Amino acid sequence: MVNTKIGEVAVFDIGGTNTKYAVFNNRRVILNKEIIKTPSNYNELISLIRVKTLKRVNTVVLGLPAVIDYNKNKIVYAPNIDYLTNKDLVKDLDLGNVLIENDANLAAIGEYYTFRKSSSSMLMVTIGTGVGGGLIVNGKLLRTQFSVAEIGHIIIENDGRPCRCGNKGCLETYCGKNGILNTYEILGGTKKSTLNKVYSEAKQGKLIAVLTFKQFAHYLSMGLVSVLNVIYVNNIVIGGGISHFGDIFFKDLINFFNSKIYPPYKKNVIINITSLKNDAALLGGFYYAQKSNAFFVDNNNTISS
Ligand SMILES: [Zn+2]
Repeated sequence: MVNTKIGEVAVFDIGGTNTKYAVFNNRRVILNKEIIKTPSNYNELISLIRVKTLKRVNTVVLGLPAVIDYNKNKIVYAPNIDYLTNKDLVKDLDLGNVLIENDANLAAIGEYYTFRKSSSSMLMVTIGTGVGGGLIVNGKLLRTQFSVAEIGHIIIENDGRPCRCGNKGCLETYCGKNGILNTYEILGGTKKSTLNKVYSEAKQGKLIAVLTFKQFAHYLSMGLVSVLNVIYVNNIVIGGGISHFGDIFFKDLINFFNSKIYPPYKKNVIINITSLKNDAALLGGFYYAQKSNAFFVDNNNTISS
């Protein structure tokens, strides 16, 4: 049972490949941090979370690459970790104070409350195995019954690459980690390469790798412009594993974005690569756990300060 007397918060950022885990004290200091391979089945995940929280913590926050039904507090869909679909993780863990949230929403909270509280609106895009999004509008995390900004599944190519969601041409199939590696292969690069290798080839000016990141920037700009044409925000932050390679695609991304953005928005939108690297969702989890002091969840399912 999670101890409720001590002010420590354990946050798990559960990804398609790796799970990041951190324990914070009540002053936002990380006491312990680990990166673990994401378990391959549900029971192992339950065991992992239980073992890691045997230590006394006040609150456990789980960031999930999943759509959560906030009315039922259950996971309804997790295409990158299939075994999580339709699971009642909070009930099955039976630890007491466990909070679940979409991972990109946590990253948005982490980024916003660390760096961008002065701006009114922000889109956080997390790019790793999948492509996720979190929206802060008028200082509040936007939520509906389900997580709001599933931008990885915006269709950017008619009859394009098959996606794990069953559709074709989703942004994720071009801009997620495997999507980028697919592009690299299609352009003639070696099979089964890694993002690190493609990045270092691009840094050396090797054409196929350079074109791979150019195409990534092109498709990502289409996704960003599509979101802003629905909900205008003045800040876009790119996070997740891709943020390590920002120097290679940032300039192209800005150029493509400016060539496509709706005219009145031009020059009003600031795009940044997160400086929190992979820690945005962990920090967001900490802020989320502290919401009884710093935030509140109102009847519209939004979180504000
Ligand atoms: Zn999709």
